[in-house]
Amino acid sequence: MKTINKIRLELADWLYNAGIVGVANILDANDVAYKRGINYIEFEETALENFEEKYFKYFIDKYKKFTSWYNIVKYEDVILNFKEENVDEEYLENINKQIDYVKEKLKSASYKSAYVIIQNKEKDLLKEEKQLNKIKKNKKQKVEDVLPNIKEQLNRMQQIIEYLKTDEVAKIILAKNIIYDIIAKFWSDVSFLNKNNNKKNMYEEYRIYFVDGTLQYIEKIIEKAKYKCFVCDRKISKLSKPVSYDLTWINKMGVDMSRKTSHFWDLSGDTFICPICNFVYSCIPAGFTVIKGQGLFINQNSSINNLIAVNKHALERNTTFEELEDASYFSIVENINQNKVEQLDKEIENIQIIKLDSTNVVRPYTFNILSKDKLKVMNGNKKMLQSMIKVKVKVGTKEYLNLYKEVVTRLYEGKNQFDLINQLFHLRLDKKFNKLHFIDMIIKINNNFIGGREKKKMVHHKVINDCKGFGLDLRISYVNKKAENKLNGISYRLLNALKTKNTSKFMDTLLNAYMYLNKQVPTIFIEGLKDTDKFQTLGYAFLLGLQGEEMKENKKDDIKEDMING
Ligand SMILES: [Zn+2]
Repeated sequence: MKTINKIRLELADWLYNAGIVGVANILDANDVAYKRGINYIEFEETALENFEEKYFKYFIDKYKKFTSWYNIVKYEDVILNFKEENVDEEYLENINKQIDYVKEKLKSASYKSAYVIIQNKEKDLLKEEKQLNKIKKNKKQKVEDVLPNIKEQLNRMQQIIEYLKTDEVAKIILAKNIIYDIIAKFWSDVSFLNKNNNKKNMYEEYRIYFVDGTLQYIEKIIEKAKYKCFVCDRKISKLSKPVSYDLTWINKMGVDMSRKTSHFWDLSGDTFICPICNFVYSCIPAGFTVIKGQGLFINQNSSINNLIAVNKHALERNTTFEELEDASYFSIVENINQNKVEQLDKEIENIQIIKLDSTNVVRPYTFNILSKDKLKVMNGNKKMLQSMIKVKVKVGTKEYLNLYKEVVTRLYEGKNQFDLINQLFHLRLDKKFNKLHFIDMIIKINNNFIGGREKKKMVHHKVINDCKGFGLDLRISYVNKKAENKLNGISYRLLNALKTKNTSKFMDTLLNAYMYLNKQVPTIFIEGLKDTDKFQTLGYAFLLGLQGEEMKENKKDDIKEDMING
């Protein structure tokens, strides 16, 4: 009986680790079982059967929605929902824009090289492209006059889409998209990225160059062979393909290495690696996550499980690289937390964040070491900060404020959030912002921050909630008295008093507001006036309630976070 060989890949420097994560991701995506040790993964050689299919399937699953193929195909929704009565100038413009896009893609070099590979010749997409034309309409014509042409062009587009969606065509064109958008950012010159192979089937080229050699090699590793693989020390018998490979095909990673970790420092042309390592390096693009030419890999190598987990990202079509990076900090925190505190500093020191900027030809990779202070801030307010990552607040016609960035920047710079809170309240009163619970969060984060510096300036979260409650009570009383219209004026006056830290003006407004109801100002405010930080925290909490934000019990998480920071 034939014994089944096992392949073990052990963690090494960041680049190799990216390759290992890539292999693991590809196996995961294809439901292939493998073993995860502390610092290695191990799988049977059978995992490499049809690996070329698994390889591309992984990338296609992850990045499909970012491809030009998808941009063309998703227009089917518009076509299928076409209704004559919906057609107006704007609609027509939209169709023409799409026609332009489709035409440009169909005749691009990348698509042309795909047509050569595709066996299904049912349609000639270059001919289709010529027949697909923008809808022209002169000034005298109405939209209705060009309806027949609109229908004709939409019909052509639908035909093109149906062809693009057939299995084989999709598989080849998507692979072309992926190669161009993702894989070519990391390596070049060999296999399907060799210029001479541009018109050959990429799946086969991958198998021939990366998989077949590996399978032959593991069948007979010659223990007495003369040479050793530069990376893994496995024996190699010859310094030529397909027994050994060099590293020159991996894009520009040799120049700007971090000081200690990489042995690629002295990389030269006469460095040889075994077919297994060659295979691992082909999977580097699958270890990174790439958005619009920018890639991210986090080398948190305390264990293979951590390494894989911290590099798993669910991407949406509109995910930005910044958001990806922010989210990564949280998953780093998540993974660190499971370890003992004593190990924390050491582990943080060993985590590298590697960024790829493919537009930078000379030095595409940059390295960041994590800041401990940043991680502590993240950790202390994890849940609240995390929920803000994608929140954008419109502050001008085209100006947006990224809430998460605003809060975190102030935290990093050691500043309080009062100016931001004030700005958000102004937007609220001008009816441009209604997510009050974020103001609530920022007040709490800020209170944590203040308490972290000087404990006596911190307000207990219960007191914050009480103030919110007083604000809400006041609102309800005014509403019951049919005096709701007065609330905005009161709010503006309070807001201005808080901005200028003018306690007497704040109290005056408050006294008048309560007097109107024949009620007494809650004593809590009189207490709080003594300290400007406390005064502002209480004041803004009150204002929040006055806007109608209901008093909620702090969730357990918030309380826990308060304690961490307190
Ligand atoms: Zn090797």
